Amino acid sequence: MSILRFKAVEEASKREPVEVIGPKKLPSEYFGKYVFNRTQMSKYLSKETMKTVLEAIDQGKTLHREIADHVAAGMKMWAMEMGATHYTHWFQPLTEGTAEKHDSFIDYINGPDSGIIERFSGKLLAQQEPDASSFPSGGIRNTFEARGYTAWDPSSPAFIIDDTLCIPTVFISYTGEALDYKTPLLKALSAVDKASVEVCKLFYPDVRKVYSFLGWEQEYFLVDQALYAARPDLSLTDRTLMGHESAKNQQLEDHYFGAIPPRVTSFMQEVEFEAYKYGIPLKTRHNEVAPNQFEIAPIYGETNLAVDQNLLIMSLMHKIAAKHKFKLLLHEKPFAGVNGSGKHNNWSLCTDTGIGLFTPGKTANENLLFVTFLVNTLLAVYKHNGLLKASIMSANNAHRLGANEAPPAIISVFLGKQISAVLDKIEFSSEDDDITVDELKKMQLGIAHIPEVLVDNTDRNRTSPFAFTGNRFEFRAVGSSANCSAAMIALNSVVAAQLIDFKKEIDIKMQKGMKKEQAIFDTLRAFIKESKPVRFEGNGYSDEWKQEAKKRGLDCETSTPLIYDAYISKESVEMFESIGVLNEKELHARNEVKWETYTKKIQIEARVLGDLCMNHIIPVATEYQTVLLDNLYKMRIVFDKEKADKLSREDAALIEEIADHVSAIKTNVDNMVEARKAANKLEDAREKAIAYHDTVFIYFDVIRYHVDKLELIVDNQMWTLPKYRELLFIS
Ligand code: ADP
Ligand code: MG
Repeated sequence: MSILRFKAVEEASKREPVEVIGPKKLPSEYFGKYVFNRTQMSKYLSKETMKTVLEAIDQGKTLHREIADHVAAGMKMWAMEMGATHYTHWFQPLTEGTAEKHDSFIDYINGPDSGIIERFSGKLLAQQEPDASSFPSGGIRNTFEARGYTAWDPSSPAFIIDDTLCIPTVFISYTGEALDYKTPLLKALSAVDKASVEVCKLFYPDVRKVYSFLGWEQEYFLVDQALYAARPDLSLTDRTLMGHESAKNQQLEDHYFGAIPPRVTSFMQEVEFEAYKYGIPLKTRHNEVAPNQFEIAPIYGETNLAVDQNLLIMSLMHKIAAKHKFKLLLHEKPFAGVNGSGKHNNWSLCTDTGIGLFTPGKTANENLLFVTFLVNTLLAVYKHNGLLKASIMSANNAHRLGANEAPPAIISVFLGKQISAVLDKIEFSSEDDDITVDELKKMQLGIAHIPEVLVDNTDRNRTSPFAFTGNRFEFRAVGSSANCSAAMIALNSVVAAQLIDFKKEIDIKMQKGMKKEQAIFDTLRAFIKESKPVRFEGNGYSDEWKQEAKKRGLDCETSTPLIYDAYISKESVEMFESIGVLNEKELHARNEVKWETYTKKIQIEARVLGDLCMNHIIPVATEYQTVLLDNLYKMRIVFDKEKADKLSREDAALIEEIADHVSAIKTNVDNMVEARKAANKLEDAREKAIAYHDTVFIYFDVIRYHVDKLELIVDNQMWTLPKYRELLFIS
């Protein structure tokens, strides 16, 4: 019965690393080979076209159809020379991941010279109409009006995968609502750009543009393909729904610093080669804390592009893993009892003149600018902490947040000693200080002294979900499988809205005759006071923090469906609408999708859990119980009753124990099925998700508890599912 498990273990243990033959060149020589980047554009586009495209990319100017025609012609020529035969609009539906529909370049010509030619026009580049009715839209797109349009995003370069030219696009409904992540992301980036420029101009009138930068760190697990295939829960839900902890897991902390296993090294090498070909500047690769857990991170880049690159690398990694006979797990919590996977989002803002707005400066003016952006970010995160949490929440990530190795389900900001001291100093300086604020006074405030000490001394509080790390903020609560856009839309939007408020305050104060520096100091002081509750330097994993956070009025909700409510609160709707990122209708529609996705995930997990219990666990437990009964029965034949009882006391106890666990599993599975039936009757997406959370999901842990107990009792030879020690330690 358990043959599959042992076959899988055998197969997995015998595997050798797959030999990877990389390009014989330096990465710099083939970097971006598959990308229609600026270098390629300059070869395939006329000077005029190139100039217009760059204006569209750098200044957000609209591209006209004739220009699109020219670009399409150049792009097609490049793509065909690279061997591409098809093209697709590559977009980011709300299901996570990416979607594509391939069309070939060929077109039919009628008339005397009828036949086919390769054609790719500006129209096809600029716009496509995929049959989009199967993508979630939260009811925006009725099925009878199933139209959705994809539209070219020139700011992210096209690339080639296998034989297909992939064109990054936004995905919108017939009536213009966003059906994807990219549309609101581009709007949020534009909002934060505009708002930041206005604030920067108070300090440096020559600033024209502010870029949002993102550097993601992608964590993941690798599991041998054969073992994965023998675990229906992993195959169907991407996580293990049962499995007793391995005797050894991560207690020795030997994996993090350990050597990377050879099979994994060759996987990583191939990922790097491919990433470079796609212009993704991977920089770091290492083991993570849990066994068989790893991380890669590129050099940061412009947020829109970094998001696309992250999505691309996730799909490349899936493909490459298969070649190496691995299965890539991007789930936030594939295994209980060991660390889950996140995707730290390192985020910063930088001017077109090269000033990092979260980089402490060398002069007082630079530092006042730095403190201005820091404090506004702090206040934005404070005011919208519930929304930021909603932006990273999912059925998967819920397992990770609040567990003992990950940020809690409470958003707080860690600043570190030095920065905290600077803010305290501003907060507690007297009014008189401000009135006489001049270059020297600012030095006395200590702001000008930040850089020398700061760069080397950023203490790293690993328990904070949102930490300042020297020249950027690190949003650590983002899930490993997520599209970074959700977090980046929320973060850039709240900061944009906050900077607009700040600028208004300064303008009002200055109109009343206040000097600029004083207006800034006064406003910052008030903001520092207001945002104080979100600052937390202690251990975010502790129970005391949960109590304290509640007192401070931070959002402490832990139920995923309820956390999503933050998207449609009055404050969030006003904030998103005020900067034109998402309107109320879109926000409601997107929440519908979130609730539906949550329900579906729990529903699938509940079904798989039930099936595994009935088809794997209970039969095996009963089989082993029969062996014990048989033994006990035979004892009685061979020995007198008293002796037989004595000799088989342990067996008898085990038989009862098994019976108890089996009966507990059966009862709870039955109850769970009933709860599911009741929840399924609910029509409202939110109500249904809440029911799944409150009445279905609650059975998972208790069922698992009994299954895991049985795993410890039942004969290893009979157990059908690969165990944690096999899943986590074979590579
Ligand atoms: P750690 O694991 O110590 O947090 P890593 O070096 O692994 O740090 O990852 C840091 C990530 O932050 C990298 O992707 C890096 O490029 C990125 N990063 C560094 N500076 C900035 C910045 N100013 N803005 C955005 N991202 C940054
Ligand atoms: Mg980090």
